Amino acid sequence: MRILIESPFLLAGDNLDLFKNAYVLIDNELIAEVGTGERPQAEKKISFKNELIIPGLINAHVHIGDSAFKDQGLEKSVSELFKPPNGLKHKLLEHTETKILVQAVKDSLNDMLRCGTTTFADFREGSIKGAQILLEALRNNSIRALILGRPDHVFSKSQIEKNQGKIPSNSLAQLNELLDLTQGLALSSPNDMTDEAMRQLADLAIKYNKFRAIHASEAPNSKDISVERSGLTEIERAIRFFNVNLLVHLTYASREDLDKVAKEETPVVICPRANASLGLKLPPITKMHDLGITVCLGTDNVMINQPNMFREMEFTLKAYRIERASSQYPSPRDILCMATINGARALGIGHKTGSIKEGKSADLAIINMNKNLRNVNDIYSALVHRTGAEDILTVLLRGKFSYGYKI
Ligand SMILES: [Zn+2]
Repeated sequence: MRILIESPFLLAGDNLDLFKNAYVLIDNELIAEVGTGERPQAEKKISFKNELIIPGLINAHVHIGDSAFKDQGLEKSVSELFKPPNGLKHKLLEHTETKILVQAVKDSLNDMLRCGTTTFADFREGSIKGAQILLEALRNNSIRALILGRPDHVFSKSQIEKNQGKIPSNSLAQLNELLDLTQGLALSSPNDMTDEAMRQLADLAIKYNKFRAIHASEAPNSKDISVERSGLTEIERAIRFFNVNLLVHLTYASREDLDKVAKEETPVVICPRANASLGLKLPPITKMHDLGITVCLGTDNVMINQPNMFREMEFTLKAYRIERASSQYPSPRDILCMATINGARALGIGHKTGSIKEGKSADLAIINMNKNLRNVNDIYSALVHRTGAEDILTVLLRGKFSYGYKI
């Protein structure tokens, strides 16, 4: 069925250009046409009177499996909370009933949807069982999910310190099944792996044409630990041995490391609220932008952050303005690009979603401008500074009204 949606405001194309008195024509799952002129024919027409249509938001890094453990252990350090296998979250995951984990993930999926998120990439702990929990929660939910799984093998402290050891064949065999269930692999850090293991995992993922993502340079000492063990930084190892498609954090990345990331054209997800929650610093986005690196946003662990991209956008804009002592940089439009088209490109799905453009999936958020956005003068600023879940009238996933307003 072809549905024509009219709205006084719409952000169109990869540059999020503001169209006034606009329309979008949806043909089944896809956007067939976007414009401002004469309306095309459609079987159904919906005219919004005071609404703004934006592309669905993209949360490029989340650990949604932590949803049952909100705000536990907040006083702990990054490694005490998250380092496998003994970090708090891993113990909690191991000792919590599956049905509780599944329900908590479902709740977070709904929270993401009602905040305008239509795509997310999840770092899925727990190997096959972890992937199955998310798949179960995703049943009957068409939010676009990239599930990035993790091998179950954990190296001993001495193997990691010597940077010696391979993933055993039984664990590797299991990974075939994991890769069948998921879109790729996501590792906790090069500092939790050996170079040889990263190479094994990359070879396997490449064989199945699957995505490879990894956290790197999250903590102040990440680089020194890596250099001491291997002679290379975490980022160098992620590029050289894991052939990485997506780097997460880079909070403490050096200029030399960023040069390498730019040379490889590897996109980066930053998670400023997660960095703030853990008492870390802000990632160097000015340098990343200057080097032409694609930078996008993620909300990271649900344990420490609500997966709400509007909150992430507002925090990111304001935190960097404090850091830069600037009222102009970054711009709200830059931030909005990070939460939409940049996220889609970083996840390798920029041709499918991330902007309102002919041929892409109709993944849209429609915002009611009668609440927080009443009397606004700048749509981009209003989206980043003012918009909340209460302003989202409806969300379309693959052309279907999936939240709020129904037809
Ligand atoms: Zn993470």
